[in-house]
Parts: sequence; C-alpha cells; structure tokens
Amino acid sequence: MMAQSHYFEPNANRPVVGRFAPSPTGRMHAGNIYAALSAWLVAKSQGGTIVLRIEDLDRDRSKAEYISAVQRDFELLGLTWDHGPFFQHDRDEAYLEAFSALEREGLVYPCFCTRADLHAASAPHRGEKFVYPGTCCGLTAEQIAEKSLRRAPAQRLHVPDAAYSFEDMVQGRYEQNLAHDCGDFLIRRSDQAFAYQLAVVVDDAAQGVTSIVRGVDLLCSTPQQLYLQELLGLDHPRYAHIPLLVAEKNRRLSKRDHDAGIEELLVRFKTPEAIIGHIAGICGLAPTCDPATPEQLLATFDVARLPELFSDPVQIPWR
Ligand code: GLU
Repeated sequence: MMAQSHYFEPNANRPVVGRFAPSPTGRMHAGNIYAALSAWLVAKSQGGTIVLRIEDLDRDRSKAEYISAVQRDFELLGLTWDHGPFFQHDRDEAYLEAFSALEREGLVYPCFCTRADLHAASAPHRGEKFVYPGTCCGLTAEQIAEKSLRRAPAQRLHVPDAAYSFEDMVQGRYEQNLAHDCGDFLIRRSDQAFAYQLAVVVDDAAQGVTSIVRGVDLLCSTPQQLYLQELLGLDHPRYAHIPLLVAEKNRRLSKRDHDAGIEELLVRFKTPEAIIGHIAGICGLAPTCDPATPEQLLATFDVARLPELFSDPVQIPWR
C-alpha cells in the first residue's frame, strides 16, 4: 500500500509575523546575526513585524547573562522587534495543555531508553538524523510499571507512515516520511521538561508567527513540526531554511570560532553597521559588503528573489 501523503500550505491571509528565537547559551556570533537579519528582512520587506522569543527551555544551558546580552546585541545591531520578549520558561502550562491533548488522542507513550532525551530541549542542529526504532512502543502496562520503578520515562509521539511535505522558500519542495525518516520522536524529557519540537510549535502558533527563517540544519525538523501543527489544529507558517555560515566544510560556526563572536566582530569592524554590512554582503543579502543598517538593506532586498540570493543553498564559508 502506498504511504499517505500530506502537503502543507501556509495560510496566506494572516499578517506577516517573523521571529527571532535565540537560545541564550552563549554570546551571539555571525551565524546568529545572519539568521536574525534574514528573518528581519523577510518579515519587514513584506510589511510584517517581528517576535522576540528567548528559547530558554534547556534550563541547565540557558544563562541569565546571555538573556540580557542577546537583547542588547539585537538592539545594537538595529535588529528591532515588535512583540515580546517572550520566554519559554513561562510557558509550561501551554506546553502541558498541548501535551495532554496528544495524550488524550492515545498518541503518546513512555520511553525508557537511556540517553534518549539528553538533548531534546535543544533544537537538533547537528549531524545525521536519528531514526527511533520504536523500542518502547507497545510495552504492556505491567512492563511500564516495572520499568518506572527504576527510571522515569521520557515521552514519545507516535508518527504515521506518511509523507509530510511543504514548499520551502529557499530549498524548494521538501518531503519526509515520518515513520521511515524520523520515527516516533520525543515531546517530553524524563526530567519533565518539554522538548524543543513541541515547545516551538506551541509558541509559534500562540505568538502568531507566520514566517520562520532559520538555518537549513533545522529543515529536517520541519515535517515533525507540521505534523504537530496538524494534530493540534494550528495554522502552518511559511518556512525559509537559509544556508549555514560554516567555519569549514560541513561545520557550522559555533562559540569556539572566536573570530565570529560579537565581541571580536565589534573589535574588527568597529561599528554595528559595518558588521551588518559585511555579513549581508558575504551571505548574498546585499549586493556589497558596505556598512549598512538593516533598515537601509530593505531598499535592495526582495523576498521574491530569496532562492537566487545564495550561490550554494546549504553552506556559506565564513572565512
Ligand atoms: N532556538 C533555536 C536556536 O537558537 C532556534 C529554533 C528554531 O528556529 O526553530 O538554535
């Protein structure tokens, strides 16, 4: 039998709302600035607004000092926001409501696999996607009771053997069969924290986000998010997955690339306009690397040309 196919279209009648969704686990670097600038240009060029949401779901890795630093850095760079800041640490009630709705549908089951939930509260940026083989699916009530004595379970969501697809503004049509390419995924960790996939979908909907611009490393999470939106009866945003700034081939910039950190960028480029102009130029968001504010870049930015802006839709070298 052919697997079912679900194709998702965004609701075009809603006002454009983009978002910045930083995780406050360190200072900003060129990759974060490029993603935020792209989100800002895509929303503002369509007369839209921007939500700022601090993704501090992972309480251990999020630090108060970075929460204030990230807001100061956005302000300094001219990356303004219109709504928020919203914080994920305030949102447990909303996540629980969504989680309970999925539970009531009989779609959630406990998973006792060790190490399973280590990173579930962070967006899964790196590496090959792990396909859960369904080890804990179909445990009997007795097995669950017995295993619970030894270990608190994480919670997984059943996925169908169905293809989920959408039209990405940069990458074109993208499709994934949830059962084969992803497997039942975590929506809650064993320490009760809700997983990134659930939180991001609940927040984007509650905050009216219609335009999601983020790195291509999250492209493979999008079918999971479309599936959650479908189950929870939520509108689907429009997605643009932009190339990653890479330190070297296949390695996205990170905190250890000190020359890309905001403090070093300020030393090297002297002004926020020079940083924005340089990043816009090397990433194809502007025709030159001349200093500019985000506002000034709007004059030459055309959202309809988004796919043509990138000579490589997957990677842009930083150095
Ligand atoms: N908070 C995530 C990050 O900073 C972004 C998640 C998303 O854009 O969906 O990596």
